[in-house]
Amino acid sequence: MKLSIKGFDQMSLLDWDGMVAATVYLPSCNFRCPYCHNGDLVLAPDQFETIPLDEVLSYVTEHNDFLDGVVITGGEPCMHKELPKLIDTFREADMRVKLDTNGSFPDMLDSLIGEDVLDYVAMDIKAPLDFDSYSRSAGISDRRTFDRVRASIEILLEGAVEYEFRTTVVPTLHKATDLERIGEQIRGARRYVIQNYKPRRETLDPDFGKNESPYNSERLSEFKSMMDPLVEECIIRGE
Ligand code: SF4
Repeated sequence: MKLSIKGFDQMSLLDWDGMVAATVYLPSCNFRCPYCHNGDLVLAPDQFETIPLDEVLSYVTEHNDFLDGVVITGGEPCMHKELPKLIDTFREADMRVKLDTNGSFPDMLDSLIGEDVLDYVAMDIKAPLDFDSYSRSAGISDRRTFDRVRASIEILLEGAVEYEFRTTVVPTLHKATDLERIGEQIRGARRYVIQNYKPRRETLDPDFGKNESPYNSERLSEFKSMMDPLVEECIIRGE
């Protein structure tokens, strides 16, 4: 398999709710979210050493007594045509698999769901579903990419796999009305997660968010109250 693993967390309690997971980071992404905290993995993944799959696999196999599964994240994992093979490899090691995705590869997503090899999918919704808003929040300029995001939302709404939609709420990009529009556009979704933005010095756009303060708990609770009637479950992460 040519796929390069560029990061590996041996154990995380944060990447999959209720699960003890190992997390694998795959390189590159077709989005350019200005607030991305993995800018180096997106823009210059070659600076990271490749971690041999055998090494990852022997760790998860040796520790399958306490590991519940593997989270595959990035970057954007679905960019890699070798992803199904990687997932198969983890499943053969009796690991459950969660996939994090920006949703712009619906064919890959649909195929993986059809093969019944995913236990959970977390898909980002970067903005209300209009091209201008999405373009600003995700740094994309191609309408076909945006259309593919919408297609992935429809696939997940069918409910053939456990999933969540999630939005990292950044005050300069997301107002209450934006979240309400997202709620209307994914009405009836099984789970929606409001993720608070965590300011850090390194963002993909180095000038982004220098003076950005995250929303406080009170505002996040207001957003949750607004979303509660629109989705089956709404939770806040990172208050
Ligand atoms: S935050 Fe945006 S740019 Fe960064 S990995 Fe996720 S989708 Fe890609």
